Amino acid sequence: MDAFYDPGTLIAVLTTQPLDRTLDYRAPEGGCFQGAYVEVPLGPRKVLGVVWGEGTGDYDLSKVRSVIRVLDAAPMRAELRTFLERAAAYTLTPLPAMLRLATRAPGLGDPPSMRKVYRRGSGEPDRMTDARARVLDAAEEMGGLALTLSELAESAGVTPQVVKGLLPSGAIVEEDTPRDTPFPPLDPDHGSKDLTDDQAQAAEALRAGQDGTYSTTLLKGVTGSGKTEVYLEAVAECLRRGRQALVLLPEIALTAEFLTRVQARFGAKPAEWHSGVTMTERRRVWRMVGEGQAQMVIGARSALFLPFQRLGLIVVDEEHDTSYKQEDGVLYNARDMAVLRASILGAQVVLASATPSLESWANADAGKYQRLDLTSRFGPAILPEMRALDMRGEDMAPNTWISPSLRRAVTQRMEAGEQALLFLNRRGYAPVTLCRACGQQIGCPHCDARMVEHRFLKRLVCHQCGESTPIPTTCPSCGAEDRLAPVGPGVERLAEEAASAFPDARIAVLSSDLYGTARELKAQIESIAAGGCDIIIGTQLVAKGHNFPLLTLVGVIDADLGLQGSDLRAAERTFQLMRQVAGRAGRADRPGEALLQTFQPEHPVIRAILGGDEEAFWRAEADERRAAGMPPYGRLAGVILSGSEVDRVFDLGTWLARHDAALRRVGAQVYGPAPAPIARVRGRHRVRLLVKAAKGTALQPALADWAGQVRLKGDLRMAIDIDPQNF
Ligand code: ADP
Ligand code: ZN
Repeated sequence: MDAFYDPGTLIAVLTTQPLDRTLDYRAPEGGCFQGAYVEVPLGPRKVLGVVWGEGTGDYDLSKVRSVIRVLDAAPMRAELRTFLERAAAYTLTPLPAMLRLATRAPGLGDPPSMRKVYRRGSGEPDRMTDARARVLDAAEEMGGLALTLSELAESAGVTPQVVKGLLPSGAIVEEDTPRDTPFPPLDPDHGSKDLTDDQAQAAEALRAGQDGTYSTTLLKGVTGSGKTEVYLEAVAECLRRGRQALVLLPEIALTAEFLTRVQARFGAKPAEWHSGVTMTERRRVWRMVGEGQAQMVIGARSALFLPFQRLGLIVVDEEHDTSYKQEDGVLYNARDMAVLRASILGAQVVLASATPSLESWANADAGKYQRLDLTSRFGPAILPEMRALDMRGEDMAPNTWISPSLRRAVTQRMEAGEQALLFLNRRGYAPVTLCRACGQQIGCPHCDARMVEHRFLKRLVCHQCGESTPIPTTCPSCGAEDRLAPVGPGVERLAEEAASAFPDARIAVLSSDLYGTARELKAQIESIAAGGCDIIIGTQLVAKGHNFPLLTLVGVIDADLGLQGSDLRAAERTFQLMRQVAGRAGRADRPGEALLQTFQPEHPVIRAILGGDEEAFWRAEADERRAAGMPPYGRLAGVILSGSEVDRVFDLGTWLARHDAALRRVGAQVYGPAPAPIARVRGRHRVRLLVKAAKGTALQPALADWAGQVRLKGDLRMAIDIDPQNF
């Protein structure tokens, strides 16, 4: 049970400030519960915190101050506190940074009423002063979250007038927060479908897992087999039992379609939580989830940190998707954190995918996860026929990428009134811009990356840091005029080729950078689904679960693209991506076909994609990882060191590699330093050390000891990445 602290009791409060421990305060007048959200004084400021437990007594008792006020929000439950602690320990993240993830709702403790909130807008002030700069910094630090006038003014140390002075220029914008309205109730029996035998069996197994204990199930099934239908049955059961359900999706662009589906199934829309949700809505969701009123949340990975009152189910859809790994700030994998949170509170996890990650496949193989397979597509639809187009035998004109065979296939589909998708996982017009006078490629001034031409935006863009410049006419290296040439295709260039190859076709390009807003993208996706185009040109974005009923042909422009490089995961990723993309073709009564343009049709990965025995593919991959002692059969952590001076970064890496006693004690080895997978970002050089250990090693404490030996000087930084994605 959570403790109650009488007024004046010494208590420990965890704040969201970048400190590495809790601070002692005295419980306020009226006392407070453990877990209460409170406002506490810190220096001259007031900051948000959570009552974590009894005071440590480590501070000078005469100087311990009192909690200012207890906020009007349900106290953080012990389960969430434990989750934050364990997640912090696992990812070696300071606890306050974890708490920040769990308190991302503006004005979370204020009584529900109409109020104005303020956040950074897109404008710039006409005149900059120190005070104004502090306001803008403070607002930016909130990462798009809005604060009340007094919160913003206080955190910047200025008067409210300074904040208001920034409104006319749009540098700060004001928003109204309406009172928090409850969500409409969801009816678990509203629109249930008749399931096939396969589906019904899987649904029954999932329902049985809704018994209030922890379990994880890998729900594997080809695209269109009805995984979503099946896990919605688990959601229904969860709702019937009065518990809350969370469904994580890898891509915000998918939520609109999904919400419509949930509405059809449960009669109303659930709560939404992702970066596209407005401030006022965030606050509402955070509170309603905390009060147990919001029955179901559809969200991005950060929804895992919401204060659910009685969470019974977490679904991770497309669980293999790499976007579940947060690569900035707190480095965590939402799939693994979902399992952690569920295991603490006794909830069910469903990991759904047509092409599971090797980690989940292995966990199921080892019996740690239950596994359910849906083997056939729903209805009369059959899996697309997949074939390789051997590019060595195709007659290609220079600077074209659509082979004559693929062209014929597209024409046939168009004549039948069906759609074709040309898939190329490269945004922009051309990946390389080359000077024909000096032979130099244009690179990013800050990163170890090429500048990618985006003709639609009329700019060269760095895909690492976002740096962009207008497309130059003279070579930045040698100054030659008009000698710059695009090399290789991006989707925009492919669209150009398609337009000339198929002059009568209506062509739609789906690439994340071509849409200003999620709404525009959604409109485009809806238009495609309704038959508004003949040819879809798309990047990875199309691989993720959209339903295009008229789509019957998928042409993969370069199936070899992901196989280059030495990444141990390359095979797994290519396999997943190709299978996902191919899975877009053919639904219901229209059989589909997938054609893979490749120069190496005999490559084992290409053969596995095309045909074959999936389990054999996973097993071969697993054997390779096992032999290399790599995850999931060994433990791996990355340490990324960065700084502006490359020598100092490498020196620090070398020093750490030599002083590895703490790691050797647990049998772990250090490799490196080597340039990180992205060796330079935003002008900072990045060097990586990899730490490898046997499965079951308690790696984190050893890593903490080892990394804790260094005091970072100057602009040197260190980030620890447990279970890195790239190795
Ligand atoms: P997956 O999630 O495996 O890709 P979905 O659940 O999206 O598959 O199902 C694919 C399509 O088939 C969807 O349009 C879905 O509504 C439909 N479908 C699947 N199972 C059934 C069923 N038992 N009855 C009616 N429609 C179904
Ligand atoms: Zn860059």
